[in-house]
Amino acid sequence: MYEGPIQDLIDQLAKLPGLGPKGAQRIAFHLLAGENVEIDRLVAALGKVRDDVTFCAECGNIAAERLCRICADARRDATKICVVEEPKDIYAIERTREFDGRYHVLGGALDPLSGIGPDQLRIRELLKRLAEQSDGSVVSEIIVATDPNTEGEATATYLLRMLKDFPGLSVTRLASGLPMGGDLEFADELTLGRALSGRRVLV
Ligand SMILES: [Zn+2]
Repeated sequence: MYEGPIQDLIDQLAKLPGLGPKGAQRIAFHLLAGENVEIDRLVAALGKVRDDVTFCAECGNIAAERLCRICADARRDATKICVVEEPKDIYAIERTREFDGRYHVLGGALDPLSGIGPDQLRIRELLKRLAEQSDGSVVSEIIVATDPNTEGEATATYLLRMLKDFPGLSVTRLASGLPMGGDLEFADELTLGRALSGRRVLV
């Protein structure tokens, strides 16, 4: 245990995912030994994240304006929507360069034990998007790209049930080959790209 502010900083940093006490200590002492301007930049970046980051009104991705970069891009194929759990999954799929459609972020996966039911996810927004089809193009495929774990599979099954009655809509799921129990963002580009191009039709 250190004294005063440095220990407070270590405690705060240690709460961040993936750091742990040792990593937190390393960063805290790095900042302490560094230039003041480095700390100023970090504080400014944190403030900007708190104040300026918003979510896309259409898909729920991180956005700097009302629509995210992908929804605002008219060249993206609006007939395909890839449904993901988190914005970071969008970036994982974009890295594969296998997908030129739009996205929909659920904000998590079904997990009844943690109190996350359909109402806690952006499922209603997805159904609304399909019902409205405001931009004139008709969505013909929903690719369910939830994580290959228990919660992700439960979410895919639920979505399938909700989507199967939309006329002319095909629902697909990423092909197997992704490590089970894993997180989409940790799949390498090649594996994820293959899972995407080899997706199978559920309905
Ligand atoms: Zn968007």
